[in-house]
Amino acid sequence: MLDSTARSLTSELWESSELYRNAVTELREAANTMKLDPNIAERLKVPKRALIVSVPIRLDNGIIRVFEGYRVQHNMTLGPGKGGIRFHPDVNLSEVAGLAMLMTFKCSLVGLPLGGAKGGIRVDPNKLSRQEAQALTRRYTSEINMIIGPDRDVPAPDIGTDSQTMAWMMDTYSQEQGFAIPGVVTGKPIEIGGSLGRTESTGRGVVYTIEHAIKHLTQSKRTSLRLDANTSVAVHGFGKVGAVAAYEIAQRGAKVTAVSDYTGGIYNKNGLNITELYKMLKPGQSGITLSEYKKDVEPISNEDLLALPVDILIPAAIDGVITKNNVKNVKAKIIAEGANGPITAEASKVLEEKGAFIIPDILCNAGGVIVSYFEWVQGMQNFFWNETEVNEKLAEVLSNAFKRVIEIQTHYKCGMKTAALIAGVDRLNRAMLLRGLFP
Ligand code: NAD
Repeated sequence: MLDSTARSLTSELWESSELYRNAVTELREAANTMKLDPNIAERLKVPKRALIVSVPIRLDNGIIRVFEGYRVQHNMTLGPGKGGIRFHPDVNLSEVAGLAMLMTFKCSLVGLPLGGAKGGIRVDPNKLSRQEAQALTRRYTSEINMIIGPDRDVPAPDIGTDSQTMAWMMDTYSQEQGFAIPGVVTGKPIEIGGSLGRTESTGRGVVYTIEHAIKHLTQSKRTSLRLDANTSVAVHGFGKVGAVAAYEIAQRGAKVTAVSDYTGGIYNKNGLNITELYKMLKPGQSGITLSEYKKDVEPISNEDLLALPVDILIPAAIDGVITKNNVKNVKAKIIAEGANGPITAEASKVLEEKGAFIIPDILCNAGGVIVSYFEWVQGMQNFFWNETEVNEKLAEVLSNAFKRVIEIQTHYKCGMKTAALIAGVDRLNRAMLLRGLFP
């Protein structure tokens, strides 16, 4: 890790997930490249605060089960914590801490007045009834309520959670305070203070950054790709992020040949009917899986999808899917990290060495937190924007962030992953030095 002299009792706990170890490896690489103040680097490798809660609920069969939940606030120098809530059977404290760290750098990179946080419950949401999911969400919210709030830390949806989850969180927090406090979460339904365009924002942002990447590579004569029928795309993870990214890129004329979910994938070399799939599956809400879709498609495994000879690959499911073991099979020229941490630090290096262009997660999927910020601002002012305004502002923020990352990449002659982290760390570093160390 960054410095072995400062190992604490909890070091092993933090470092127990690959995602956290990767985040720290990437931070170390960025810190070395930009010659970051070692005191700042030391501070950034561990979170500011972490809360572990046990969440008991009565299942529909009458039995009480206790689930484990977490909320980690990595750094709040720039403002309140911001980050999603994940419901997944593999969630653990270390993974949540790694994701919180990524949120810190993401918010900083795109210039938001927000810090980095993340939360989760170790549960398989597909096995919960609606009533059980509601009870779990409400009790978890109640258990973490002392560290969240519109001015403290503002959760949002992530894997296995959605706008309904946010509605239950908002209601629970509000009931406990005695009045409606919509600003406690983002990604809420429109009816209770959500923002137009928030649901689509992450996937839409992924495609905006792909457009910037193509423009950049065209200018430097490294590609002749355009988003037309000659360009093939594969999307790993047809969820809230991946399905919207697939839909948006297909709308622009590119050919999406494969998409997948946790049950496996579907493939058609001439392009899938993404509009139909998108409408049918209502990502994250329908409960229908891709394996149930049989019209003009062949089944494909998740592993084979990642190895397809496509122009653009969008890993938008979970972390750690492209590793040193399978990176040699990946053939895509542009890889847009829709998910957080889908490519390990080792695999990123291999891909960049063989000339692939990686759009780093903290840039590629930042659309979600950008529009979450817009939702928070609109809610604070009780003044709501139309979807065109939201999308225009989103495009502007991402465009500026993309330019900044390219400037840094050119300056340091480093990879895109390192450049994006440097952009995030640099702004945060200046803010931390200005605020100084308390006491
Ligand atoms: P989601 O739960 O809506 O979708 C996840 C998708 O991935 C589903 O289709 C699921 O079936 C699939 N999946 C899960 N495990 C898989 C596996 N092992 N192999 C293949 N597919 C698998 O979640 P989401 O909100 O779309 O989040 C996806 C990723 O994007 C996560 O890494 C998340 O942290 C990141 N992200 C989400 C947002 C957001 O606004 N939702 C914002 C930024 C980043």
